[in-house]
Amino acid sequence: MGEKKKKIIKTIKIDADKCSGCRACEVICSAFHAAPKYGTTNRARSRIRLIRDPLKDIYVPVYAGELAAAECMGRDKYVIDGKEYDECAFCRASCPSRDIFKEPDSGLPLKCDMCEGESEPLCVKWCLPKALTYEEREEEVEEEVKLGEMEIGLQALVDKYGLQKVVETVVQMAQKV
Ligand code: SF4
Ligand code: SF4
Repeated sequence: MGEKKKKIIKTIKIDADKCSGCRACEVICSAFHAAPKYGTTNRARSRIRLIRDPLKDIYVPVYAGELAAAECMGRDKYVIDGKEYDECAFCRASCPSRDIFKEPDSGLPLKCDMCEGESEPLCVKWCLPKALTYEEREEEVEEEVKLGEMEIGLQALVDKYGLQKVVETVVQMAQKV
């Protein structure tokens, strides 16, 4: 058992019934994470992507989660209230099976960081229909990120993208902090 420590749990509640499909969340996310900040917008670089199919009345925002080094053994496909969604539609992973949640040029994984440093995630702030709501609470959890795990993650990236790309990205990230 690891040591317990306090952790802030950050949650964005998504009321998909209120989503208008405007994609403002995708635009602001890509602008906030551009280098320089707000220098460009490119929805393909957003850490939130909208499942959008107006003909089926489908508008569901999905946030980028962790990198998946390998595909799952099988895929899921949902039908909810008579609406059929694409394969893996609700998955948050940056996964080899698809292009979303990856930098369009380098293919490096994108992950929502809850707009670290801002008082509130910008996608929440910019969602005028208020489909997104931000909540924080404190929880006692076991100490999680051990150096070993971090090394494993880095090794996976190096295997996939090459050491130079990983180093360049780390440098870019360091400049944004
Ligand atoms: S900004 Fe809000 S309403 Fe617009 S697409 Fe994003 S979640 Fe939906
Ligand atoms: S919380 Fe920030 S990083 Fe995450 S999707 Fe929203 S705008 Fe992007």
